[in-house]
Amino acid sequence: MNPNVGFGYDIHRFKKGRKLYLGGVEIPHPAGLVGHSDGDCLIHALIDALLGASGDVDIGRLFPDTGPDYKDIRSTELLKRVAGRLRRKKLEVLNVDAVIVAQAPRLAPFVDKMKAVLCPLLRLPSERLGIKAKTNEGIGLVGREKAVACWVVVLVGRKRGERR
Ligand code: MG
Repeated sequence: MNPNVGFGYDIHRFKKGRKLYLGGVEIPHPAGLVGHSDGDCLIHALIDALLGASGDVDIGRLFPDTGPDYKDIRSTELLKRVAGRLRRKKLEVLNVDAVIVAQAPRLAPFVDKMKAVLCPLLRLPSERLGIKAKTNEGIGLVGREKAVACWVVVLVGRKRGERR
């Protein structure tokens, strides 16, 4: 197998009164993330990593934020479509490792729930998906609780027996 690495990054601002979604999980908080979709920047970074590893276009080209099609769409729905796109290319996700940087809320208690949502969509066993939640030590926009940033790396391989 000749695996490909993919790397994705995303950052979204908080806005009071919006629902907060991260890793496909709704998290109780007075503010949510601004976005054309539900603002789930963990899934957006994951999607860009998957698209990068499969030599595809980026998330902005695949799901443009200019039209009504993706307005307020759940990012889990976008991830389902991207996972299908990889499968049609006979590619499988081998592992994923993610970092979420948020000063607040505390996200560690939600990591298992995120894994329970994301693993089936990626057809990945739990031990092959890493999610770490960190603060930004009070530094910058993220540290002042104005935004959440995420980084994701993925490894993608061609399914056994499939030729390029
Ligand atoms: Mg985004």
